[in-house]
Amino acid sequence: MSAFGWIVRILAVLLIVRLVFRFLGGLFQGLSGAASSTSAPGGRQAPGPRVGGRLVRDPQCGTHVPEANAIRVGSGDTAVYFCSTTCRDQWSAARRAG
Ligand SMILES: [Zn+2]
Repeated sequence: MSAFGWIVRILAVLLIVRLVFRFLGGLFQGLSGAASSTSAPGGRQAPGPRVGGRLVRDPQCGTHVPEANAIRVGSGDTAVYFCSTTCRDQWSAARRAG
């Protein structure tokens, strides 16, 4: 009888026991989780569209708008943001005039 065979067997048994315990633990965790989730709703779902990113200021009317919703003119450091195309057109017209 080889010692190696015994080690392999013991390791196999340990592995199976571990898997069984993990399975049972998962079952109990699932049960307790289901019981506790009835009182506290899980998951974070914000209503409405997510307003992400930074706010930018419309130089024409002074309104602050989210960068994602703003109308951008130019790029990089020289980029200018507007709340609407109307403001953008007025601003560009004033710049052309000035
Ligand atoms: Zn504006």
